[in-house]
Amino acid sequence: MPPKPSLPAIKISPRGATRLKSGHVWVYRSDIVSADGIPPGSLVTISDPRGKPLGTALYSTSSQIAVRMLSADPIADLPALLRQRIANAIAYREGLVRDTDAYRVVFSEADFLPGLIIDRYNDILSLQVLTQGMDANPIRETVISELTEHLHPASVIERVDPRVRELETLPPRASGLLQGERTSTTFTMNSVQFLYDALEGQKTGAFLDQRENYAAAAQYAHGDALDVFCYQGAFALHLAPRCPHVTGIDSSRPALEVADKNATLNGRDIEWIEANAFDLLKDYASSNRRYDTIVLDPPAFAKTKRDLDAALRGYKELNLRALKMLRPGGILVTCSCSYHVSESNFLEMLAAAALDAHRTLRLIEVRGQAKDHPVLLNVPETAYLKCVIAYVT
Ligand code: SAH
Repeated sequence: MPPKPSLPAIKISPRGATRLKSGHVWVYRSDIVSADGIPPGSLVTISDPRGKPLGTALYSTSSQIAVRMLSADPIADLPALLRQRIANAIAYREGLVRDTDAYRVVFSEADFLPGLIIDRYNDILSLQVLTQGMDANPIRETVISELTEHLHPASVIERVDPRVRELETLPPRASGLLQGERTSTTFTMNSVQFLYDALEGQKTGAFLDQRENYAAAAQYAHGDALDVFCYQGAFALHLAPRCPHVTGIDSSRPALEVADKNATLNGRDIEWIEANAFDLLKDYASSNRRYDTIVLDPPAFAKTKRDLDAALRGYKELNLRALKMLRPGGILVTCSCSYHVSESNFLEMLAAAALDAHRTLRLIEVRGQAKDHPVLLNVPETAYLKCVIAYVT
């Protein structure tokens, strides 16, 4: 056999090399010394300034994260490596994921498959491609074939975020079926049932990262409950068996329509209100409404590091209002999915809100994302969700 052509090589700066040696898997564009003429999405070898090899990676010509490491070693057979990583991701979840047929099967860097996200909703798999490297057709084919072999889905759909494709300078592509015909199904988490329409909704359809937090919140919920930023009603539906009256608030009518169908599917009677949560909480707080359980699960306020202060002010305002509305002995479930707001930032914000509201918080649980969204200790960016459950007096 002729020898394999060698991969294009990228040299990185001492700072970039130090970052990789600390266990991180990204090299920023500012740490690339030379990558001239390397095509988008290429498999490349990485070396330090002296030419010492640091491993094999996928290269993006447009992202600020120019290099995403795949291995610290040379890669002889990329399809075989991808197949093995997918099989490992599936096996990891078989050991850890309980009480659900909906979970994240592959979580990008955290499963050593940077730029690839696969979610399972019962018999439908949803795929998201976030990088030039993972967009290549042979890679897509390998991924889908390995997933199908293990999980036998009725269909595989792709959800496209047009903004991501634009940032990666990938040609536009529509969301749609990649395999099979089924686009909707029902799935079950913690014995609660949900409708799933693969081509509607936000993210890949549901917020699977909150799955274990729904069950945790349900343990302590009681009395009159308010689920603020309820989307398709997942917290509300989990609280309903323990709370005689549950209200869900969201600004999205389509989300609330699904929430209402989900309530019917589970035989629950929940009140849904379409409103801007900030305005409504202000009105409720000033009209002396009281609740025993309040969930706050807003969208990410800090999309970049620069937004941190404004985000913390937003979180504080929300939490302050909720705290004022909780009866003594009430339960606050408060979340942040902003990576840039650290757990300690979030707890400090909450402590300040408690002082201003003249309330005392006892932390019952300080939680993160569900186990099917693994956190790599040396890649801090893989940890983003905070969910604090507190007893308020
Ligand atoms: N708790 C949900 C996820 C919430 S995602 C779950 O576990 O499934 C954030 C939600 O906030 C989205 O549904 C979005 O429509 C809603 N939203 C965003 N801005 C809002 C606002 N100002 N007022 C009310 N809802 C808002």
